[in-house]
Amino acid sequence: ESIAEMTGVVKHYRTRGRGEVHALDGVTLTVGRGEVLGLVGESGCGKSTAARLLTGLERADAGTVRVDGQDLAALDRAGHRRLRRTVQLVFQDPYASLDPRQRIGDALAEVLTVHRLVAARTAARARVGELLEMVGLLPATAERYPHQLSGGQRQRVGIARALSLQPRLLVLDEPVSALDVSVRAEIVNLLDRLRRELGLAYVFISHDLGMVRHLADRIAVMYLGQIVETGSWEQVSDRPVHPYTQALHRAVPVADPAVEYRRAGDAVRGEIPDAARPPAGCRFHPRCPLAEDVCRTEVPVLAPPSGHRFACHVRQRELGVVTPTSAERP
Ligand code: SF4
Ligand code: MG
Repeated sequence: ESIAEMTGVVKHYRTRGRGEVHALDGVTLTVGRGEVLGLVGESGCGKSTAARLLTGLERADAGTVRVDGQDLAALDRAGHRRLRRTVQLVFQDPYASLDPRQRIGDALAEVLTVHRLVAARTAARARVGELLEMVGLLPATAERYPHQLSGGQRQRVGIARALSLQPRLLVLDEPVSALDVSVRAEIVNLLDRLRRELGLAYVFISHDLGMVRHLADRIAVMYLGQIVETGSWEQVSDRPVHPYTQALHRAVPVADPAVEYRRAGDAVRGEIPDAARPPAGCRFHPRCPLAEDVCRTEVPVLAPPSGHRFACHVRQRELGVVTPTSAERP
């Protein structure tokens, strides 16, 4: 039983000047209850679009997005309101979503009141205290304004606010990327603890494979709007098969949490192509050291049907993976 799933999801954006950006092109993924799915790729690969679709902030052009069994395209206003109590989005920079003139305690109490989760002001105050404690902040934090907090404290507030509605799924969009290296591990550890204590599922989005592997049960790697490799965290982070994942893997230095991970793109040659003009065939072919003629014309599909899956002509041939014929493709 899954808490969220995307099936064949397409999302394009019409832009002025650049044309139609292919943010997501046929993405299928599943998040089990209490499971952590790491979604990895360079900026511009469609990760944040996936986050916005999973939380109902935007609608898919095609395909379906289901959360807790509900097709998000079919939700009315009341349904969208209920959805916020199932799935919450945590942003990279919580500062952008906090009102600078509002004390932290008031901001958290407002969410509780708007969603009628507390009957009275005193109950709200008690619950705010609990939420702050849950994320490792002192009760006195309630009296502070956002600018009086460190980046790490602000992200804890962002997490507390998401938890205030008691969701079962958090979509975390680069939750530690804006933080100092020394603080990142603290937040990742906090997320790990909360997940175990509350039985939460996460979609943990990052450009950094090394960061994701600490938390994720399963990992999906995205490139230009498509998933190119998916499997358990061991399969994808320790024994990656797709040349793109292997390049991301090389960007991760020896396991030492004190070392700042290099940006994922560093080990991948060339720039990520414009998502308004995705290359034909395998979208990774202009940057791929293994590219062959077939890669320039034929689109590789994810195979085998379950387990460790990858979309690469060369690796599928080398490893003897049978790919679906075009008639069987979704
Ligand atoms: Fe490289 Fe070809 Fe595999 Fe694409 S299909 S990743 S271009 S080898
Ligand atoms: Mg993003």
